[in-house]
Amino acid sequence: MQTKIAEVVHRIRPSVIRDMALRAEKLDNVISLGIGEPDFHTAPEISRLALQDAEAGYTHYTPSKGYGDLVEALCEYLNRYFGHGVSPEQVAVTSGGMGALTAYFRALLNPGEEVLVPEPYFPSYRPQIEWAGGQLVPVPTSFEQGFVLTPEAVERAITPRTKVLMINSPHNPTGLITPPETLDDLAYLAKEKDLLVLSDEVYDRLVFDGRRHDSIFHRPGMRERTTVLGSFSKSFAMTGWRLGYAFGPEWLVKEMVKVLAHYTSCPPSVSQRAGLAALRQAPSLVDDMAAEFEKRRDLLYEKLLHFPGVKIHKPTGAFYAFPNLEAITDNTEQFALDLLYEERVVVIPGGAFGASGQQCVRMAFTVDCDRLTEALNRFSRFIAKKMERKK
Ligand code: PLP
Repeated sequence: MQTKIAEVVHRIRPSVIRDMALRAEKLDNVISLGIGEPDFHTAPEISRLALQDAEAGYTHYTPSKGYGDLVEALCEYLNRYFGHGVSPEQVAVTSGGMGALTAYFRALLNPGEEVLVPEPYFPSYRPQIEWAGGQLVPVPTSFEQGFVLTPEAVERAITPRTKVLMINSPHNPTGLITPPETLDDLAYLAKEKDLLVLSDEVYDRLVFDGRRHDSIFHRPGMRERTTVLGSFSKSFAMTGWRLGYAFGPEWLVKEMVKVLAHYTSCPPSVSQRAGLAALRQAPSLVDDMAAEFEKRRDLLYEKLLHFPGVKIHKPTGAFYAFPNLEAITDNTEQFALDLLYEERVVVIPGGAFGASGQQCVRMAFTVDCDRLTEALNRFSRFIAKKMERKK
């Protein structure tokens, strides 16, 4: 019967992140640096307002691109916060950033058309592209180059079938931000080669060291060809509400909304009310969480920097570190399993994000400082044992 499964689904490997979580569930006393979601609950005020609205009757289908007042509020937020200068016609609210990915690729890709994706990358990109009939073409980056995408590597990967270049900054899994001059170069290349750009900016509010979020959308001539993917999940600690959005050229957003109408009909009504409540909160709601992630980043980075055999770039955004362990192991998958069973700490082997990440593991600093310290103590003990065995 298995052969009846669609090839495109059959090819997809089960999620390594979910697999690690399932294994961890069966063990006691595990500290998980595995799954990429804030440990904070949604602010009670947001939940309360959403439930109030549910009681008042916001329980029906909504416009496919989201409630008008939410779209308006989102534009106001995006313009005030990031200077994006978008209008309601350019915005669609979706069921998570995931819903925006689906709408984007379905609206654009003909069979066999290619999407260039910097590697390592968020694992859902591949199925999202393939289910829409497209091909993911990884563009390798390396630890040595700080995982920065080079225009030369992008250029080498371009074929007559290339339609879209993806960017993800702040980046999952490395926690790094694409430098402004790289965004300049990529924008130039995209225009020269007539590529569309999909910029995944779901971590836009989680940037450290006093940085301001920067987007390729702002480069000259890029508004016509760039779509930005956003989400309430990470910044507002609202992963379970499944609320995201996309904005970009009107001609494309219009087609994405056609897809959304037949995909989920509309984003969830009560979640949209929660989203509206979130946008009306004081900025400190998000800034305080970002400051807490920065504190944890400092703690993690300072410790990992001094662990023998570990190389690390200082994360500048999101809530991930991606240390390189090539001096300790040549099999990070086995390393992650052994670490889980011997020391009860979950990390994600970097190969889950593509071959360029193979020598690294992803650590999400989504536990408080005490637990993070304990996880790092266990990690340190484990690598000391590993190094000893290697001798
Ligand atoms: N893009 C990136 C880079 C992510 O890390 C995630 C979630 O982990 C998403 C998109 C999708 O997020 P959501 O669907 O929760 O908005």
